[in-house]
Amino acid sequence: MKKILITRRLLRSCEEKAEKTFKANLNLNDELYSQKKLIELSEGCDGLLSSLTDKLDTETISKLPESIKIISNFAVGFGNIDLEAAKKRDIAVTNTPEVLTDATAEIGVLLILGACRRASEGIASAREGGWKWSADYLIGKQLTGARLGILGMGRIGQKIAKIAKSLGMVIHYHNRSKLSGDKEQGAIYHNNLKDLLSVSDVLSICCPASKETVDMINKDTIEYLPKGAVVTNVARGDIVDDEAMIDALERRKIYAVGLDVYKNEPNLNPGYLKHKSAFILPHLGSATKDTRTAMANLAIDNIDEFFNTGNCKNKVN
Ligand code: NAP
Repeated sequence: MKKILITRRLLRSCEEKAEKTFKANLNLNDELYSQKKLIELSEGCDGLLSSLTDKLDTETISKLPESIKIISNFAVGFGNIDLEAAKKRDIAVTNTPEVLTDATAEIGVLLILGACRRASEGIASAREGGWKWSADYLIGKQLTGARLGILGMGRIGQKIAKIAKSLGMVIHYHNRSKLSGDKEQGAIYHNNLKDLLSVSDVLSICCPASKETVDMINKDTIEYLPKGAVVTNVARGDIVDDEAMIDALERRKIYAVGLDVYKNEPNLNPGYLKHKSAFILPHLGSATKDTRTAMANLAIDNIDEFFNTGNCKNKVN
Protein backbone atom coordinates (compact mmCIF):
# COMPACT_ATOMS: atom_id res chain seq x y z
CA MET A 1 0.00 0.00 0.00
CA LYS A 2 1.35 3.46 -0.92
CA LYS A 3 2.01 5.88 1.91
CA ILE A 4 0.84 9.49 1.69
CA LEU A 5 1.04 12.59 3.84
CA ILE A 6 -2.16 14.67 3.98
CA THR A 7 -0.99 18.10 5.04
CA ARG A 8 -4.33 19.51 6.29
CA ARG A 9 -7.53 18.02 7.67
CA LEU A 10 -10.14 16.92 5.15
CA LEU A 11 -13.82 16.29 5.87
CA ARG A 12 -13.95 13.07 7.93
CA SER A 13 -15.59 10.94 5.21
CA CYS A 14 -12.75 11.87 2.86
CA GLU A 15 -10.08 11.03 5.43
CA GLU A 16 -11.74 7.63 5.80
CA LYS A 17 -11.60 7.13 2.04
CA ALA A 18 -7.90 8.10 2.08
CA GLU A 19 -7.23 5.63 4.90
CA LYS A 20 -8.92 2.84 2.89
CA THR A 21 -6.92 3.66 -0.24
CA PHE A 22 -3.49 4.37 1.25
CA LYS A 23 -1.48 4.28 4.40
CA ALA A 24 -2.42 7.87 5.17
CA ASN A 25 -0.68 10.18 7.65
CA LEU A 26 -3.37 12.61 8.80
CA ASN A 27 -2.91 16.04 10.35
CA LEU A 28 -5.43 15.62 13.15
CA ASN A 29 -4.72 19.04 14.73
CA ASP A 30 -4.96 20.72 11.33
CA GLU A 31 -1.65 22.41 12.13
CA LEU A 32 -0.13 24.65 9.47
CA TYR A 33 3.15 22.77 8.87
CA SER A 34 6.34 24.77 8.45
CA GLN A 35 8.33 23.85 5.34
CA LYS A 36 10.84 22.07 7.59
CA LYS A 37 8.15 19.99 9.30
CA LEU A 38 6.47 19.15 6.00
CA ILE A 39 9.79 17.84 4.66
CA GLU A 40 10.38 15.78 7.82
CA LEU A 41 6.87 14.30 7.76
CA SER A 42 7.24 13.40 4.08
CA GLU A 43 10.03 10.96 4.95
CA GLY A 44 9.06 7.47 3.77
CA CYS A 45 5.98 8.76 1.88
CA ASP A 46 5.20 8.16 -1.79
CA GLY A 47 2.97 11.18 -2.24
CA LEU A 48 1.63 14.37 -0.70
CA LEU A 49 -1.94 15.57 -0.61
CA SER A 50 -1.30 19.30 -0.22
CA SER A 51 -3.46 22.38 0.28
CA LEU A 52 -3.16 25.92 -1.00
CA THR A 53 -1.77 26.91 2.42
CA ASP A 54 1.38 24.80 1.74
CA LYS A 55 4.10 26.82 0.04
CA LEU A 56 5.85 24.21 -2.07
CA ASP A 57 8.55 26.44 -3.51
CA THR A 58 11.80 25.40 -5.25
CA GLU A 59 13.69 24.97 -1.99
CA THR A 60 11.03 22.86 -0.29
CA ILE A 61 10.57 20.66 -3.35
CA SER A 62 14.33 20.16 -3.69
CA LYS A 63 14.43 18.89 -0.09
CA LEU A 64 11.53 16.44 -0.36
CA PRO A 65 12.60 12.81 -0.05
CA GLU A 66 13.29 10.88 -3.28
CA SER A 67 10.32 8.64 -2.54
CA ILE A 68 7.78 11.45 -3.23
CA LYS A 69 6.43 10.96 -6.75
CA ILE A 70 3.24 13.02 -6.68
CA ILE A 71 1.87 16.21 -5.12
CA SER A 72 -1.91 16.17 -5.33
CA ASN A 73 -3.14 19.68 -4.58
CA PHE A 74 -6.53 20.02 -2.90
CA ALA A 75 -7.47 22.99 -5.14
CA VAL A 76 -7.85 23.85 -8.80
CA GLY A 77 -5.23 26.60 -8.45
CA PHE A 78 -1.61 25.55 -8.04
CA GLY A 79 0.14 28.89 -7.55
CA ASN A 80 1.44 27.52 -4.22
CA ILE A 81 3.57 24.93 -6.04
CA ASP A 82 6.63 25.53 -8.20
CA LEU A 83 5.67 23.33 -11.15
CA GLU A 84 9.06 23.55 -12.83
CA ALA A 85 10.90 22.51 -9.66
CA ALA A 86 8.53 19.55 -9.32
CA LYS A 87 9.05 18.58 -12.96
CA LYS A 88 12.83 18.68 -12.53
CA ARG A 89 12.47 16.28 -9.61
CA ASP A 90 10.10 14.14 -11.72
CA ILE A 91 7.26 14.76 -9.29
CA ALA A 92 3.79 14.88 -10.84
CA VAL A 93 1.51 17.72 -9.69
CA THR A 94 -2.28 17.36 -9.94
CA ASN A 95 -5.24 19.63 -9.17
CA THR A 96 -9.03 19.35 -8.70
CA PRO A 97 -10.74 21.08 -11.66
CA GLU A 98 -14.49 21.08 -12.50
CA VAL A 99 -15.80 19.92 -9.11
CA LEU A 100 -15.47 23.38 -7.53
CA THR A 101 -16.60 25.48 -10.49
CA ASP A 102 -20.23 25.98 -9.43
CA ALA A 103 -19.53 26.75 -5.77
CA THR A 104 -16.77 29.22 -6.64
CA ALA A 105 -18.89 30.92 -9.30
CA GLU A 106 -21.63 31.37 -6.67
CA ILE A 107 -19.15 33.27 -4.50
CA GLY A 108 -17.96 35.19 -7.58
CA VAL A 109 -21.55 36.37 -8.14
CA LEU A 110 -21.97 37.12 -4.43
CA LEU A 111 -18.92 39.40 -4.64
CA ILE A 112 -20.44 41.26 -7.59
CA LEU A 113 -23.79 41.65 -5.84
CA GLY A 114 -22.28 42.48 -2.44
CA ALA A 115 -19.91 45.13 -3.80
CA CYS A 116 -22.42 46.74 -6.18
CA ARG A 117 -25.31 46.79 -3.71
CA ARG A 118 -23.27 47.95 -0.69
CA ALA A 119 -23.91 44.79 1.30
CA SER A 120 -21.12 45.47 3.87
CA GLU A 121 -22.61 48.81 4.81
CA GLY A 122 -26.12 47.37 4.74
CA ILE A 123 -25.25 44.48 7.06
CA ALA A 124 -23.47 46.79 9.49
CA SER A 125 -26.46 49.19 9.58
CA ALA A 126 -29.02 46.43 9.97
CA ARG A 127 -27.08 44.95 12.90
CA GLU A 128 -26.54 48.32 14.52
CA GLY A 129 -30.24 49.24 14.24
CA GLY A 130 -31.65 52.73 14.13
CA TRP A 131 -31.23 53.14 10.39
CA LYS A 132 -33.74 55.30 8.67
CA TRP A 133 -35.14 54.40 5.29
CA SER A 134 -35.08 57.23 2.78
CA ALA A 135 -35.17 57.51 -1.00
CA ASP A 136 -31.40 57.84 -1.22
CA TYR A 137 -30.37 55.54 1.66
CA LEU A 138 -27.51 53.18 0.70
CA ILE A 139 -28.12 53.58 -3.00
CA GLY A 140 -25.94 51.15 -4.94
CA LYS A 141 -25.17 50.18 -8.50
CA GLN A 142 -27.74 48.12 -10.38
CA LEU A 143 -26.46 45.15 -12.36
CA THR A 144 -29.12 45.21 -15.09
CA GLY A 145 -27.50 46.59 -18.24
CA ALA A 146 -24.05 46.99 -16.60
CA ARG A 147 -21.02 45.65 -18.46
CA LEU A 148 -19.26 42.77 -16.71
CA GLY A 149 -15.63 42.23 -17.70
CA ILE A 150 -14.36 38.74 -16.98
CA LEU A 151 -10.60 38.44 -16.75
CA GLY A 152 -10.02 34.72 -17.29
CA MET A 153 -13.09 33.22 -18.93
CA GLY A 154 -12.34 29.60 -18.02
CA ARG A 155 -14.59 27.20 -16.11
CA ILE A 156 -15.41 29.59 -13.25
CA GLY A 157 -15.52 32.68 -15.46
CA GLN A 158 -17.97 31.03 -17.86
CA LYS A 159 -20.27 29.99 -15.03
CA ILE A 160 -20.22 33.53 -13.58
CA ALA A 161 -20.97 34.86 -17.08
CA LYS A 162 -23.98 32.59 -17.37
CA ILE A 163 -25.47 33.74 -14.06
CA ALA A 164 -24.59 37.41 -14.66
CA LYS A 165 -26.25 37.26 -18.08
CA SER A 166 -29.46 36.10 -16.44
CA LEU A 167 -29.23 39.21 -14.22
CA GLY A 168 -29.15 41.37 -17.35
CA MET A 169 -25.42 42.10 -17.44
CA VAL A 170 -23.58 42.43 -20.75
CA ILE A 171 -20.56 40.12 -20.76
CA HIS A 172 -17.07 41.02 -22.04
CA TYR A 173 -13.95 38.91 -21.46
CA HIS A 174 -10.24 38.60 -21.98
CA ASN A 175 -8.24 35.38 -22.20
CA ARG A 176 -5.01 34.87 -24.08
CA SER A 177 -7.06 32.84 -26.56
CA LYS A 178 -10.56 33.44 -27.87
CA LEU A 179 -13.15 30.84 -26.93
CA SER A 180 -15.32 28.90 -29.36
CA GLY A 181 -18.84 30.28 -29.89
CA ASP A 182 -20.54 27.68 -27.68
CA LYS A 183 -18.30 28.60 -24.73
CA GLU A 184 -18.54 32.35 -25.38
CA GLN A 185 -22.35 32.30 -25.29
CA GLY A 186 -22.54 35.79 -26.79
CA ALA A 187 -19.79 37.34 -24.65
CA ILE A 188 -17.58 39.90 -26.39
CA TYR A 189 -13.89 38.99 -26.68
CA HIS A 190 -11.04 41.47 -26.14
CA ASN A 191 -7.59 40.32 -27.11
CA ASN A 192 -5.85 42.55 -24.59
CA LEU A 193 -6.32 43.61 -20.98
CA LYS A 194 -6.59 47.33 -21.69
CA ASP A 195 -9.57 46.90 -24.02
CA LEU A 196 -11.35 44.65 -21.52
CA LEU A 197 -10.81 47.00 -18.59
CA SER A 198 -11.97 50.05 -20.56
CA VAL A 199 -15.46 48.51 -20.97
CA SER A 200 -15.76 46.94 -17.49
CA ASP A 201 -18.30 48.66 -15.24
CA VAL A 202 -17.73 45.62 -13.07
CA LEU A 203 -14.61 43.47 -13.28
CA SER A 204 -14.55 39.83 -12.18
CA ILE A 205 -11.03 38.42 -11.85
CA CYS A 206 -11.12 34.68 -12.57
CA CYS A 207 -7.67 33.87 -14.04
CA PRO A 208 -5.02 31.81 -12.24
CA ALA A 209 -2.11 33.34 -10.34
CA SER A 210 0.98 32.93 -12.50
CA LYS A 211 4.19 34.80 -13.30
CA GLU A 212 2.20 36.60 -16.02
CA THR A 213 -0.75 37.61 -13.86
CA VAL A 214 0.96 38.74 -10.64
CA ASP A 215 -0.07 42.36 -10.01
CA MET A 216 -1.80 42.46 -13.39
CA ILE A 217 -4.33 44.85 -11.81
CA ASN A 218 -1.99 47.63 -10.72
CA LYS A 219 -1.59 51.42 -10.59
CA ASP A 220 -1.41 51.69 -14.39
CA THR A 221 -4.04 49.14 -15.43
CA ILE A 222 -6.61 50.42 -12.87
CA GLU A 223 -6.62 53.66 -14.86
CA TYR A 224 -8.05 51.81 -17.90
CA LEU A 225 -11.24 51.08 -15.93
CA PRO A 226 -14.17 53.53 -16.19
CA LYS A 227 -14.42 55.94 -13.24
CA GLY A 228 -16.59 54.35 -10.54
CA ALA A 229 -15.94 50.77 -11.67
CA VAL A 230 -16.37 47.86 -9.27
CA VAL A 231 -13.56 45.30 -9.00
CA THR A 232 -14.14 41.77 -7.72
CA ASN A 233 -11.61 38.98 -7.26
CA VAL A 234 -12.58 35.34 -6.75
CA ALA A 235 -9.31 33.94 -8.16
CA ARG A 236 -6.11 34.77 -6.25
CA GLY A 237 -4.87 37.76 -4.27
CA ASP A 238 -1.56 37.81 -6.12
CA ILE A 239 -3.27 39.26 -9.20
CA VAL A 240 -4.09 42.59 -7.53
CA ASP A 241 -1.64 45.23 -6.31
CA ASP A 242 -3.40 46.04 -3.03
CA GLU A 243 -1.78 49.42 -2.42
CA ALA A 244 -2.86 50.62 -5.86
CA MET A 245 -6.40 49.28 -5.35
CA ILE A 246 -6.77 50.89 -1.89
CA ASP A 247 -5.50 54.17 -3.31
CA ALA A 248 -8.06 53.89 -6.14
CA LEU A 249 -10.84 53.32 -3.57
CA GLU A 250 -9.66 56.40 -1.68
CA ARG A 251 -9.70 58.51 -4.86
CA ARG A 252 -13.12 57.04 -5.75
CA LYS A 253 -11.72 55.91 -9.06
CA ILE A 254 -13.02 52.55 -7.87
CA TYR A 255 -16.51 52.58 -6.36
CA ALA A 256 -16.26 49.31 -4.45
CA VAL A 257 -14.35 46.03 -4.30
CA GLY A 258 -15.62 42.50 -3.68
CA LEU A 259 -12.83 40.19 -2.54
CA ASP A 260 -12.62 36.55 -1.55
CA VAL A 261 -8.85 36.17 -1.91
CA TYR A 262 -5.84 38.18 -0.78
CA LYS A 263 -2.10 38.40 -0.87
CA ASN A 264 -0.62 36.99 2.31
CA GLU A 265 -3.84 35.34 3.54
CA PRO A 266 -5.21 35.49 6.19
CA ASN A 267 -3.51 38.85 6.87
CA LEU A 268 -5.16 41.01 4.29
CA ASN A 269 -3.94 44.52 3.69
CA PRO A 270 -5.52 46.58 6.53
CA GLY A 271 -6.23 49.35 4.03
CA TYR A 272 -9.25 47.37 2.84
CA LEU A 273 -10.74 47.29 6.34
CA LYS A 274 -10.99 51.07 6.41
CA HIS A 275 -13.25 51.09 3.38
CA LYS A 276 -16.95 50.49 3.98
CA SER A 277 -17.23 49.86 0.26
CA ALA A 278 -15.00 46.78 0.52
CA PHE A 279 -17.19 43.66 0.57
CA ILE A 280 -14.76 41.06 1.86
CA LEU A 281 -14.99 37.32 2.46
CA PRO A 282 -12.44 34.89 3.95
CA HIS A 283 -11.62 32.70 0.90
CA LEU A 284 -14.99 30.92 0.77
CA GLY A 285 -15.00 30.05 -2.95
CA SER A 286 -15.26 26.27 -2.72
CA ALA A 287 -16.62 26.12 0.83
CA THR A 288 -19.69 23.90 0.58
CA LYS A 289 -19.89 20.37 1.94
CA ASP A 290 -20.60 18.83 -1.46
CA THR A 291 -17.75 20.67 -3.13
CA ARG A 292 -15.13 20.12 -0.43
CA THR A 293 -16.06 16.43 -0.42
CA ALA A 294 -15.79 16.18 -4.19
CA MET A 295 -12.46 18.03 -4.18
CA ALA A 296 -10.88 15.81 -1.52
CA ASN A 297 -12.17 12.65 -3.18
CA LEU A 298 -10.74 13.82 -6.50
CA ALA A 299 -7.39 14.67 -4.89
CA ILE A 300 -7.31 11.12 -3.47
CA ASP A 301 -8.38 9.58 -6.80
CA ASN A 302 -5.67 11.57 -8.60
CA ILE A 303 -3.00 9.88 -6.45
CA ASP A 304 -4.61 6.48 -6.91
CA GLU A 305 -4.82 6.92 -10.68
CA PHE A 306 -1.21 8.05 -10.80
CA PHE A 307 0.10 5.04 -8.91
CA ASN A 308 -2.12 2.63 -10.85
CA THR A 309 -1.43 3.95 -14.35
CA GLY A 310 1.74 6.06 -14.12
CA ASN A 311 -0.26 9.09 -15.24
CA CYS A 312 -3.24 11.20 -14.23
CA LYS A 313 -5.74 13.19 -16.29
CA ASN A 314 -5.48 16.09 -13.83
CA LYS A 315 -1.68 16.33 -14.02
CA VAL A 316 -0.67 19.98 -14.54
CA ASN A 317 3.10 19.77 -15.05
P1 NAP B 1 -9.47 27.64 -15.84
O1 NAP B 1 -10.66 26.90 -16.33
O2 NAP B 1 -8.11 27.14 -16.15
O3 NAP B 1 -9.62 29.15 -16.36
C1 NAP B 1 -8.59 30.09 -16.28
C2 NAP B 1 -8.82 31.13 -17.37
O4 NAP B 1 -7.85 32.17 -17.22
C3 NAP B 1 -8.69 30.56 -18.78
O5 NAP B 1 -9.77 31.01 -19.54
C4 NAP B 1 -7.38 31.17 -19.29
O6 NAP B 1 -7.47 31.40 -20.70
C5 NAP B 1 -7.32 32.49 -18.51
N1 NAP B 1 -5.93 32.95 -18.33
C6 NAP B 1 -4.86 32.25 -17.88
N2 NAP B 1 -3.77 33.02 -17.90
C7 NAP B 1 -4.15 34.23 -18.35
C8 NAP B 1 -3.47 35.44 -18.61
N3 NAP B 1 -2.15 35.56 -18.41
N4 NAP B 1 -4.17 36.49 -19.11
C9 NAP B 1 -5.50 36.38 -19.34
N5 NAP B 1 -6.22 35.26 -19.12
C10 NAP B 1 -5.54 34.20 -18.63
O7 NAP B 1 -9.51 27.78 -14.26
P2 NAP B 1 -10.80 27.82 -13.31
O8 NAP B 1 -11.16 26.44 -12.90
O9 NAP B 1 -11.83 28.70 -13.90
O10 NAP B 1 -10.13 28.53 -12.02
C11 NAP B 1 -9.58 29.82 -12.12
C12 NAP B 1 -8.86 30.22 -10.87
O11 NAP B 1 -9.80 30.45 -9.83
C13 NAP B 1 -7.94 29.14 -10.29
O12 NAP B 1 -6.66 29.17 -10.89
C14 NAP B 1 -7.88 29.49 -8.82
O13 NAP B 1 -6.75 30.26 -8.55
C15 NAP B 1 -9.12 30.32 -8.59
N6 NAP B 1 -10.04 29.66 -7.63
C16 NAP B 1 -10.39 30.32 -6.49
C17 NAP B 1 -11.24 29.72 -5.58
C18 NAP B 1 -11.64 30.42 -4.31
O14 NAP B 1 -11.82 29.74 -3.32
N7 NAP B 1 -11.84 31.72 -4.32
C19 NAP B 1 -11.75 28.44 -5.83
C20 NAP B 1 -11.40 27.82 -7.03
C21 NAP B 1 -10.55 28.45 -7.92
P3 NAP B 1 -6.15 31.41 -21.64
O15 NAP B 1 -5.34 30.22 -21.25
O16 NAP B 1 -6.70 31.39 -23.02
O17 NAP B 1 -5.46 32.71 -21.34
